[in-house]
Amino acid sequence: MRPYMLAGNWKMNMNVTEACALSRALAAVKIPEGRQVMIAPSFVCLNPVFSEIKNSAVKLGCQNFYHEEKGAFTGEISSDMLKSTGVSHIIIGHSERRAIFGETNELINKKVKKALEKGFTAVLCCGETLQEREKNIQNNIVEQQISEGLVQIPENMLERLIIAYEPVWAIGTGKTASPGDAEAMHLFIRSLIEKLYSKKTAAELQILYGGSVTEKNVDELMAMPDIDGGLVGGASLKADIFTRIIQFK
Ligand code: PEP
Repeated sequence: MRPYMLAGNWKMNMNVTEACALSRALAAVKIPEGRQVMIAPSFVCLNPVFSEIKNSAVKLGCQNFYHEEKGAFTGEISSDMLKSTGVSHIIIGHSERRAIFGETNELINKKVKKALEKGFTAVLCCGETLQEREKNIQNNIVEQQISEGLVQIPENMLERLIIAYEPVWAIGTGKTASPGDAEAMHLFIRSLIEKLYSKKTAAELQILYGGSVTEKNVDELMAMPDIDGGLVGGASLKADIFTRIIQFK
């Protein structure tokens, strides 16, 4: 049985005081059995947020990192720096990183590899744009993002890999993929992992859905057999709403 993961991507929102208040509230939430919760605040909030959640079941994630060990990479943050703040999960290849900051599948592959080698759980994001869906090439796009993102990553490392399917047209737009369309893509991703690795690894892989998940649509999305949780942006910024998402029915 795969556990569900409810992950909050806080993006570039909240200062330290606000992030601490929200994480304190979430640390007190009753998490139903078989569910995992992760929050990914901005880098400057990692340390103070970890102090708030370290005695709870809530895991600390971050939204990006740089794959080199150390050195002249002004403005970047390494895996060892993240380790020292209590981070266990790293979101990699979010569509905003791809579209705004020009991250390629090749760079994302380097990041996934380094994150897994360093013992983190890597949350590899994929998803098609509206134009790509209108051309009906969403499966090809997602296949390329995943197969290129996982180049030379051995099967035993996939124990700590999570894939998040986030159709770009659904992120922050209020438009959610229908549970049926999301399920179809999750099944496609699982079959791709079976082709690239094995049936066992595919069956054990957690695949999250992201894109305007709210307290109103979470129940029907999570009822789909291949949706193993949600990567939640806007709706993870309010304690009561994210709590309802964590406690989906
Ligand atoms: C996201 O940022 O990963 C996301 C899915 O955002 P939202 O839930 O706001 O659409």
